[in-house]
Amino acid sequence: MVFKNIDDLRLRKLAELAVSTGINVKKGQPVVITASVDAAPFARLCAEVAYEYGAKFVYMLWHDDLMSKINFQNADISQFEVIPDYRVAQYDHFIDEKVARLNIVDDVPGIFSDVDASKMAANAKAAGQAFKRYRDYSMANHGQWTIVAVPSVGWANLVFPNEDDQVAVDKMWEAILSASRVTKDNDPIADWKAHNAALETRNNALNEYNFKALHFTNELGTDLVVGLADSHRWAGGSEIAGNGQVFNPNIPTEENFTMPHRENVNGVVYSTKPLDYQGVLIEDFKLEFKDGKVISSLAKQNDEKLTQLLDTDEGSRHIGEVALISHDSPIQNSGILFYNTLFDENASCHLALGAAYPMNIIGGTTMSEEELKTYGFNSSMNHVDFMFGSADMNIKGIKHDGEEVSLFENGNFVI
Ligand code: ZN
Ligand code: ZN
Repeated sequence: MVFKNIDDLRLRKLAELAVSTGINVKKGQPVVITASVDAAPFARLCAEVAYEYGAKFVYMLWHDDLMSKINFQNADISQFEVIPDYRVAQYDHFIDEKVARLNIVDDVPGIFSDVDASKMAANAKAAGQAFKRYRDYSMANHGQWTIVAVPSVGWANLVFPNEDDQVAVDKMWEAILSASRVTKDNDPIADWKAHNAALETRNNALNEYNFKALHFTNELGTDLVVGLADSHRWAGGSEIAGNGQVFNPNIPTEENFTMPHRENVNGVVYSTKPLDYQGVLIEDFKLEFKDGKVISSLAKQNDEKLTQLLDTDEGSRHIGEVALISHDSPIQNSGILFYNTLFDENASCHLALGAAYPMNIIGGTTMSEEELKTYGFNSSMNHVDFMFGSADMNIKGIKHDGEEVSLFENGNFVI
């Protein structure tokens, strides 16, 4: 049903976009695709396209959240505290093979809301530790990776609650394709080239300023000074992987982002969109920072889940990313709340709790973690983006000599 009404032409364009602009698979390179069993038709199409573009082999990792839920509801917590060696060995093999990773997402927001939170936390911690090497492989861009979305019925029902299943799914397809810049008569790959060039122009302008800090204020009560890491570098749009391939980590993407200094964030920030964390929706929350650390937090919905996120590890109370997006942006203007960070983060300024990206430091992808930390890098098994942009957001950039530059007025870029 999910793939019933969508036309083959746009489906194929999205698959080609994911394989070429997204991971830009190199001739002879293996590809790892992750997809839910409900997204199988699109995942198989991506595999075929990957071979057309020269992939050596496609490893397909299927998952099924309903099956995971059965395990969470029935198995003892001890089953979630350790990741078996054979699974770690599988990912070590992928790194040794220098794979490109294509992640297809269709998660149903809130699907795990009635699952025992301590089991989920145990699982997240065990997975975070066991798969550190694989996570670092992607976060430091050693290999290309991308995330692309397709609808699921549960997700579509949440976004379009007053529609029948099929109508909701069809609307979801239109929303995803439009946000991903795929239309019936465009050349998405060419459109993405132009889009990447525009993002790069803004990165260059922000790098030129070399701000010491950014000061965010709005009516909701956000008053936050985010110090930037030393030798930080603005990124957004395409990136270059360690193997020289130019790739796009997110489809869609609208953001310019950089690295905050892990010990230099002070003030209060209020969220402006719900956050789907491990299948639980955390809503209307505020965080108070002192010297880079979250010292108090409060959410109107699922406050325990927010606390659990912050307590995952030491780095989860610090931020690893600050991203700027004009309120007047395609996804915001669609008026659709996706309840999915891949989309909602591209409609709003956001911060990420947890790990920073080494590429946001000049020369960072070849530095050791110890060296990165001397610049203000934050390390964590989490990287969870949350949205705090608003129509009345003002942002001032503070230069090292104290001069202030207005970056955002009433929600939008003014540089
Ligand atoms: Zn971001
Ligand atoms: Zn992020």
